[in-house]
Amino acid sequence: MKDDNCIFCKIANGEIPSKTLYEDERFRVILDLGPATKGHALIIPKNHYPNLYELPEEDAGDVMKLAKKMMIKITDGLGCEGFNLVQNNGDLAGQTVFHFHLHMIPRYQADGQTIGWKPQEVSQEELEEVKNRITGA
Ligand code: AMP
Ligand code: ZN
Repeated sequence: MKDDNCIFCKIANGEIPSKTLYEDERFRVILDLGPATKGHALIIPKNHYPNLYELPEEDAGDVMKLAKKMMIKITDGLGCEGFNLVQNNGDLAGQTVFHFHLHMIPRYQADGQTIGWKPQEVSQEELEEVKNRITGA
């Protein structure tokens, strides 16, 4: 399952060189070319799935297991003091490469990055309505 026009298919399968931190039959972990911080890495499945909606459940579980292993390796190597895992789905959510990937972003004192959101006000009634719409209650 590859897409000929997809750059991450080519990177994950070794047709385009990358700074690879880890590779097995199903995944490649590379350094991001436009890093948020030192050691910003991407976990990329070798098969083409555009986003998390399409990623098989088994792969989703294994991505998180691999993230845990890589987090320890990157922390040992670089001495970062925290980590953000970020995963964008859809261009509205900031996705620019439409082949599933998980960002692993090491954090350092005064690294100058802000990864977050602006909390909004919400009432208990609104929360209840949202809960009911999601759960079908
Ligand atoms: P997203 O915006 O979540 O789709 O993330 C795409 C990420 O891929 C960005 O952080 C880019 O810097 C990174 N990226 C794009 N092309 C390459 C490439 N050829 N090698 C490594 N990272 C890349
Ligand atoms: Zn692809």
